[in-house]
Amino acid sequence: MSGTLYVVSTPIGNLEDITLRALRILKEVTLIACEDTRQTSKLLQRYDIHKPLVSCHDFNEKSRSLDLIERLRQGQDIALVSDAGTPGISDPGFKVIALAIEHQIPVFAIPGPAAFLTALTISGLPLHRFAFEGFLPERKMARRKFLMDLKAEPRTLIFYESVRRIKESLKDLFEIFGNRKVTVARELTKKFETFERGFLKEILSRLDLKNLKGEFVLVVQGFKEEEIHVSSLDESTLVQEVEETMKNHNLSKKEAVKWVAEMKGLSRKYVYRLTHSKQGDAA
Ligand code: SAM
Repeated sequence: MSGTLYVVSTPIGNLEDITLRALRILKEVTLIACEDTRQTSKLLQRYDIHKPLVSCHDFNEKSRSLDLIERLRQGQDIALVSDAGTPGISDPGFKVIALAIEHQIPVFAIPGPAAFLTALTISGLPLHRFAFEGFLPERKMARRKFLMDLKAEPRTLIFYESVRRIKESLKDLFEIFGNRKVTVARELTKKFETFERGFLKEILSRLDLKNLKGEFVLVVQGFKEEEIHVSSLDESTLVQEVEETMKNHNLSKKEAVKWVAEMKGLSRKYVYRLTHSKQGDAA
C-alpha cells in the first residue's frame, strides 16, 4: 500500500503559528521534504522533532518529485513543507503534489498560515472576493503590462513583493491603477510587523521607502464603479479640481479631466460626466 503525502503549512514568522495537527504529522512521517533544510531545522528544533530531511526546491523539484513518488509508492509517509507558509504558494510544491495525485497517492493538506491570507484578513479591504496574484514581474515593462491587464479587475488584489522592488512596484501601482486604497503589510507575525493603510499616493510619500526592510504583501483595492463610491461632497471637489487644473496649467477641459481622473483612479468618462452634471446643478 502506498504512503501518504501531507502538505504541511508552517509559520510565516512567529514559530508559534503551527497547528497541533501539523506538529503531530511532522513527528509521525518517515521523511520531511523541505525547501531549505537549514530553515526547516530551526522549526523542528523548536519543537524537538527529529526526522530525516530532503531538499525539494525550485532547482531540483522535477527530479526530486520522482524520487519522492517512488518512496510514497513504497509505503513511506512524507510531509512536504516550504521555508514559510503554505507549500506551492509562490513556493515549490506544485509539481510533487500534481505528480502524487496523478499516481493516485493519497494527498492531504494540513492547513495553516499563508502570508497573502494573513495580510488580506486585516487589510480593511473587501474580503468576500479577492485575487491572489503572487509576485509582480521583476522587469518594469513586464510589471506594467501585468498591472494594465488587472486594471479593471473588481476583486481585491494581493501581491507579494520583495524589498528590492517595493518602491518601484508601489509607483507603478499608483501610475496604472490611480489613487486606490492599499495596505502594505510588512514582516507579518514577526517582531517588527507593520501595516500601512491608506491611498497609494499618500503611502508613497509617507513611507521611508529607501530604508524599508523585510518581507511585504501588498493588498490593493479592486476597480470600482465610482458612482457608488464617490460621495456628493467628493463629486463637488472633483469638479473644482478639474476647474483649478484647467486654470493653473492652462489646459483644455478634456486634458484636465484626463489628469484628474488618472490622479484619482477614476474613469475619464465618469469625471467628464460629473463636470457636466454639476454645471447643470448650478444653473
Ligand atoms: N509560501 C509562502 C506563503 O504561504 O505565503 C510564500 C513564500 S514566498 C517565497 C515569500 C514572499 O511571501 C515574500 O517575499 C513576501 O512577499 C511574502 N511573505 C512571506 N512571509 C511574509 C511575512 N511574514 N510578512 C510579509 N510578507 C511575507
